[in-house]
Amino acid sequence: MSRNNLVDMSKQAPDLQRVVSDITDEMRQRSERGAVATYIPELARVDAKSFGLVVIDAAGNVAASGDCDQPFSIQSVSKVFTLTLALGKVGDRLWQRVGREPSGSPFNSIVQLEFERGKPRNPFINAGAIAVTDVILSGNRPREALGEIVRFIRLLADDPSISIDEAVAASEQRTGYRNFALANYMKSFGVLDNAVETALGVYFHQCAIAMSCRQLAMAGRFLAFLGRDPSTGHSIVKPERARRINAIMLTCGHYDGSGEFAYRVGLPGKSGVGGGILAVAPGKGSIAVWSPGLDTAGNSHLGTIALEALSNRLGWSVFGQLS
Ligand code: GLU
Repeated sequence: MSRNNLVDMSKQAPDLQRVVSDITDEMRQRSERGAVATYIPELARVDAKSFGLVVIDAAGNVAASGDCDQPFSIQSVSKVFTLTLALGKVGDRLWQRVGREPSGSPFNSIVQLEFERGKPRNPFINAGAIAVTDVILSGNRPREALGEIVRFIRLLADDPSISIDEAVAASEQRTGYRNFALANYMKSFGVLDNAVETALGVYFHQCAIAMSCRQLAMAGRFLAFLGRDPSTGHSIVKPERARRINAIMLTCGHYDGSGEFAYRVGLPGKSGVGGGILAVAPGKGSIAVWSPGLDTAGNSHLGTIALEALSNRLGWSVFGQLS
């Protein structure tokens, strides 16, 4: 038993550990792995063969396999945590600036912004996430806002070692032309309060946070258990807020692949171009998977296949669960 009351699953619940290990073995044998993101040059350096999978259940049992302790760039998975923080800060007023409808567009699309007068469709496309970060930034210096985000994630994961990969942040800062375009466009409509460079500086750094599957699954547990950390009982957010964040993950967490992910996996999830996906099985457990190769919508190719297999084998789906 660790300090988090977590238990090594291989001894406690061998069935779940077996499912996780079997899926990892199956994924390792696949030759079609998708394409690693290259538009952030530093992300292209990662080993495309990496694969990690971790499930943490209600009792704190941890089933882990593959490269489950290797930190990777969480990229857009960070948007789940910044959304939670921004809602904590301004509550439902957030929805005056950002919508909560699926976009049906790629993660970095600018076309909708013009039609909708600078109001991003949802907090998980890039424009929406930049607007959410701008809310966290207001009243803070960039370093303080970033510190707040990192501290929150460390608290959730119960791991003070989590940090930002500065090389990835610098790489995105140098090449983030689309994000500069999105932010400038929103600024012109008065959607951002802070300077474009400052909001983007914080956004690029939050995306560059590096975490392992084990840390990510830990950090997502409050969403699986009605806003509470099930091992300590501490409330992170109210149950209704956890439900709503899950709803946005389900409908918007995979960009224009969100419908497909809901159909195949049936769980709220948020992907990042680093190849990570955090998925939440309400009342059952928190799941993190990492495989850097992406599909055409920018979501982890094998990560999605692995989650589909996992939710099928465990019967974990928000659309009907096996007991
Ligand atoms: N930092 C990335 C970007 O803004 C995040 C995209 C993603 O993970 O989907 O392009």
